[in-house]
Amino acid sequence: MDAYGEMASPEEFIDNLWRGYTEDLRRRSPFAHRIFMFMVRHGFGIIMRAFFTTMAILYFVFVFGIVIPFESLYKPRWIVIIGSAVAVYLYFNVVFYFIMASITGPGNPKKNPHGNAGCKVCLKSKPPGTHHCSMCGACIIKMDHHCVWINQCVGAGNHRYFFQLLVSLTTSMLLLLTLGYNTFYNNYTRNVFSYCAGGFDHLFWSEFICNDYGVWVANITQVLFFITVVIWFLMGGFCVWNCFIISYGTTYLECLTHFRTIFNSRPSFDQIKTNWQIFLGLSRGRSFWTHILLPSFHVCERYGEEPVTPDEEMLSVVVH
Ligand SMILES: [Zn+2]
Ligand SMILES: [Zn+2]
Repeated sequence: MDAYGEMASPEEFIDNLWRGYTEDLRRRSPFAHRIFMFMVRHGFGIIMRAFFTTMAILYFVFVFGIVIPFESLYKPRWIVIIGSAVAVYLYFNVVFYFIMASITGPGNPKKNPHGNAGCKVCLKSKPPGTHHCSMCGACIIKMDHHCVWINQCVGAGNHRYFFQLLVSLTTSMLLLLTLGYNTFYNNYTRNVFSYCAGGFDHLFWSEFICNDYGVWVANITQVLFFITVVIWFLMGGFCVWNCFIISYGTTYLECLTHFRTIFNSRPSFDQIKTNWQIFLGLSRGRSFWTHILLPSFHVCERYGEEPVTPDEEMLSVVVH
C-alpha cells in the first residue's frame, strides 16, 4: 500500500517489463546481455552527450555565423542586438542546465535505520515518491523518469535543472524560429547561396558559406529548420506537462498509476505556489531573479541538502 492507498506501483510495472526483457536476453545470450547492459549504463550516455555537443556546436556556428549576420540585413539594429543578447543568454543556459542535470545525482534514499527496508531490490527505505530504477540500479527520491539524454534518472536532486533545461531549449528554439525566420524562408524559397545575394561580403567566412560549401550550408539550414521545429514542439509539450506535475507537487511516474487521484486533488492557488517554491528551492532568501533567471547551483533543501530520512517531511511535498 502506498501514499495514495492504492496497491499498484508504477515501477513494479516498468520493472517487470524491463526484467522480462533483460532476463530473456541473458538466457539467450549472456554476451549480448552484457553488451546491452553496458550500453544502457554507459554507452547511451556517451553517444547522447556526443550528439548533444555536436548539435550545440552546430547551432552555435549556425546562429552566430549565419542567422544573426543575415537577419541584420533585414531587421532594425536594436532588435538584432537584443535578440543576439537573449540568444547568448539562452545558449549558455541550455549548456549549463544540460551539464548540471547530467552530473547532479537525482537523489538516493539512505538505508533505513530501523531495518525494515522499503525496496525489495536495494533494501533502501522508501519515502513516498521514491522508486527503484532498473537502469540506474538504485532507488531514486521523487523519481520522474529515466532520461537517456542525461544518462540518469530525473529525480528530486536534478529535476529543477532538467526542467530549466526544457524551458531554455523551448524558448531558444522559439526565438530562432521567430527572429531567424528570414534565414530559413529565404534559404528555402531561393535555395542555395541565398545568404550571398548581398551584404555578406564583409564576413571573412563568406567565401566558405557562399562558394566552397554553399550547397552543404543550404542543405544543413533546411535540416536545422525541421530539427528546430521538432525540438520546439516536443520540448514545449514536455514543458507544459512538467508545469502540471510541478503545480500538483508530483512526478510523471506517480501520474502513471495515480493520475485520476492526482488530477482530482485540485490544489489551491496557495498550494500550487508552495509546490513551485519547493520545486525551485526558493527558500533561505533565494529569489527568482537571482537563483532561477541566473544560473544557480542550489538544490532544494527538502530534497538535497538535508539528509533524507523522515517520511513525514517527504509526505508534505507529495500531492496535497
Ligand atoms: Zn531500490
Ligand atoms: Zn534511472
